[in-house]
Amino acid sequence: HAPVSTPASTGPLRRNRATSHVLHRHTGDVLPVAVGGEGCWLIDAEGRRYLDASGGAAVSCLGHGNRRVRDAIMAQLDKVAFAHTGFFTNEPMERLAEMLVEGAPEGIGRACFVSGGSEAIESALKIARQYAVERGDLARTRVIARRQSYHGNTLGALSATGNTGRRRPFLPWVIDDVVHVSPCYAWRHRAADETDIAYGQRLAAEFEHQLRVLGPETVLAFVAEPVVGATLGAVPAVEGYFKAIRQICDRHGVLLILDEVMCGMGRTGYLYACEADGVAPDMIAMAKGLGAGYQPIGAVLVSDAIADVVLHGRLGLMTGHTYMGHPVACAASLAVQEVIRDDGLVARVRGLDATFERLLRDGLGARPEVGDIRGRGFFRGVELVADRTTKRPFPATAGLAKRIKAAAFDLGLICYPGSGTADGIDGDHILLAPPFIATEDELALAVERLGQAIDRAMADAGL
Ligand code: PLP
Repeated sequence: HAPVSTPASTGPLRRNRATSHVLHRHTGDVLPVAVGGEGCWLIDAEGRRYLDASGGAAVSCLGHGNRRVRDAIMAQLDKVAFAHTGFFTNEPMERLAEMLVEGAPEGIGRACFVSGGSEAIESALKIARQYAVERGDLARTRVIARRQSYHGNTLGALSATGNTGRRRPFLPWVIDDVVHVSPCYAWRHRAADETDIAYGQRLAAEFEHQLRVLGPETVLAFVAEPVVGATLGAVPAVEGYFKAIRQICDRHGVLLILDEVMCGMGRTGYLYACEADGVAPDMIAMAKGLGAGYQPIGAVLVSDAIADVVLHGRLGLMTGHTYMGHPVACAASLAVQEVIRDDGLVARVRGLDATFERLLRDGLGARPEVGDIRGRGFFRGVELVADRTTKRPFPATAGLAKRIKAAAFDLGLICYPGSGTADGIDGDHILLAPPFIATEDELALAVERLGQAIDRAMADAGL
C-alpha cells in the first residue's frame, strides 16, 4: 500500500480506508460521518437518520443528546476536568460509588473505576489474584471461564475470552492458566429429553468436574456473563444454573466474577443482570451502559470481604490506571444513573419486556431462517439458521450476520451482528439493545426494518 495522502479538501469529510489516517477503520467503504443524535436516533452529515436499536454495542442506554447528562458534564468541566486520584478524591466518583454499591447485590461494598470493560475485567482478575496472595493462597492462579464468551481485548481479558477466533493470533501471549468450560446455551445444547433445570445442573457438574481435574486449591475464579452478549446474542442462563455455580464456588473457595459489561445497568430489566439469577457474585465488571456512551467509563464492584483483605494487605491495591475515577467520566456516569433512577427506566424496560418479545415473535418468528428469539428486557438476540429442525447454521462463508448489519444500516437501522462457525460460534445472530427510552413504535420499527434487512441479506448471499 502507498502511504495515505489526505485529500486537501474543505468539503464534507469523505474518508475510506485508503484515505483515512485512523487505523481502526474496519471497512474499506466511505462511512457516513456522525454529526448528531436525538433520543434513539443518530444523524449523519447528510441528514440521514438511523434508528440506533443496538446502542452501538449495548452502550447508549439513555439514547443520544440527553440534556441532564450533558449539563452534568459541562458543570464538572467548569469545576475541574482532572485531578489524579493518587492525590485527590472527587465528588462525582464518591457519589457514584455510593450509588452503585447501594443498589448492588449483597456483600458488594466497593467500586473501582476504570475506563472500559476490558480494564474492568483485567482489574477483577488482578484483584482476585491479590486476594489469594494476601491470604497466602499462592497456588490459586487458575481461572475457569466459558467457551464462546467475550470478556475484552486486552491480554488478560482476552485470556478469559472463550471466542477462539479472537484469541487465536495472540495465543502465545494469553495467560495459560485459563480453562474454558461449556456455555449455558439451552436452545442449542440442551438434550431433547432434558429439562432446563437438569441441563443447568449438568453444566454445573461439568464445572465442578473441571475444578477437581485442575485441583480446586489451584483455582482462583470463575468468570461468566450472566446473559451472553456479543458472542452468542443475548443468551441468559437457565434457571438454577448460576445458583449451582455459586454453591460450587463457595464449596471450593473459588471467587465468582460476573461480567455485566454488556448486560448490566438495567439492560435486562434488572439493575444488575444477576438479580434475575438470584445470585450475589464476589465481583461484578461493568462498563458500556454505566456511562451510556457519554464518557468512557468502566468499573469493577468488589465485595467487602475481598476489599478488606486487599486494602489491609501488605501490597495495597496493585491495579491502577491514570484515568481511574476520572471526574468528568464519573460526573457523566452519575448523571446517567440518576436519570435511570429518577425516570424509573429499569422498571420501564421490565414493563416492556413482554411487548418487545411479542413484537419480535410476531414480526420475525414465522420466518424459516429465524431459529431462536431470546434475551431479557432490552437485550435481545435473533439467531438465524439454515434449518430450523436441525438448527444447522448457515455456512460461515455466507457472512449472513454481517450482511444483515449492512443491509439494516442501509435501511436506517443500527443492529449488532455476531457470527461465524469459523469463530467457534455456532451460527449467525443479531443483537438488539435499544435505548431504555425507546417507544413501542420505535421497537416495532426496529423489528420491521430488521425483517427487511434479513430479506435483503438472504437475497444478496444467495441463500
Ligand atoms: N465484557 C463484555 C461482556 C463485553 O461485551 C465487552 C465489550 O464488548 C467487554 C467485556 C470489553 O469491553 P470494552 O470493549 O469496553 O473494553
